[in-house]
Amino acid sequence: MLLKGKKILITGVANDWSMAWAIARRCAENGAEIAMPYAMPALEKRVRPLAESIGAKFVQECNVQNDEQMDSLFGAIEREWGHLDGMLHAIAFSDKNELTGRYADTSRDNFKNTMDISVYSLVDLTRRASKLMHDGGSIVTLTYFGGEKSVPNYNVMGVAKSALESSVRYLASDLGRDKVRINAISAGPIMTLASSGVGGMKSLLRLNAEQTPLRRNMTLDDVSGAALYLFSDLSSAVTGETHHVDCGYSTTGMMPNELKDMLLKAMDEAK
Ligand code: NAD
Repeated sequence: MLLKGKKILITGVANDWSMAWAIARRCAENGAEIAMPYAMPALEKRVRPLAESIGAKFVQECNVQNDEQMDSLFGAIEREWGHLDGMLHAIAFSDKNELTGRYADTSRDNFKNTMDISVYSLVDLTRRASKLMHDGGSIVTLTYFGGEKSVPNYNVMGVAKSALESSVRYLASDLGRDKVRINAISAGPIMTLASSGVGGMKSLLRLNAEQTPLRRNMTLDDVSGAALYLFSDLSSAVTGETHHVDCGYSTTGMMPNELKDMLLKAMDEAK
C-alpha cells in the first residue's frame, strides 16, 4: 500500500492495452484514489468500465486541446477532492501518415499539432495539477528512446519526445521549491493503440527483444512498477530525471553477437 490515501490523476487511458491503464490499476492496488478522464466520446465505452472496476472518479471527457474541458476537469477535482498528490501524463498524437518515411517530409500543421498534444499538454496539465498539490506531489510522463537517438519512422514523435524530456527538466526546476517532483519514464516499445500507428512497429518489437541486454521486451508490469516507485515517497529525492524502463536497450552501443551473426548470414544468403 505504497500510495495509501494519495489522490492521483491518470490521463491517457484509451483501453486495457494502454500503459496508463496498467499504471492506474497498480496505483489503485496500492491504495491510491484515481481520477480517470478520457480524450473523446468514442473512448467512453471502453474507459468507463475500467474506471468502475477500480472505483475511479472524474470519468469525463478531457481533450487537452479543449480549454473548457480542462477547466471543467480541474474545477471538479478541486471542488470534490480539494487537492492532488500525483498526476500521470500519458498522451501523444501525430498523423500516422507522417510516422513512416522521412522526417524531412513532416508538414508544418502536423509538426504543430504533434507538439501541442504531445508536449504542450504536459506543461498545461502540470501547471493546473501542481496548483492542487498543496503538500508536494509527483508528476510522471512517458517518453521513448526515439527522443534521444533517431529511430526509423518515429520521426516528428521523436522530436516531440526530446522536447518532452527537456520540459521535464525545466518543470522540475520550476516546481521543486513547492516539493513537486516530475520525472519521465522512457519505456521500451510495446503494442498499444498509439504505437500501432508507427510504421514497422511489429518488426521493431521483434528486433528490440533480441537486442536488449535482458533479451526481452518491456511489459506493462515493468512500466507500472516504475511509476509506482515514482509516485511513492520511495523516490522522494528524484526529480527532473528520464528513467529508462527498457530492459537495458538504451545502454547498448551495438547489437549482440548472435543477432549480428544472424543478420550477416542472412545478408550473405540474399546476395
Ligand atoms: P495509448 O494509445 O493507449 O495512449 C495514448 C493516449 O493519448 C490515448 O489514451 C489517447 O486518448 C490520448 N490522447 C491523444 N490525443 C489526446 C488529446 N488531444 N487529449 C487527451 N488525450 C489524448 O498508447 P500508449 O502507448 O499507452 O501511450 C501512452 C504514452 O506512452 C504516450 O505518450 C506514448 O508516446 C508513450 N510511449 C509509448 C510507447 C509504446 O511503445 N507504446 C513507448 C514509450 C512511450
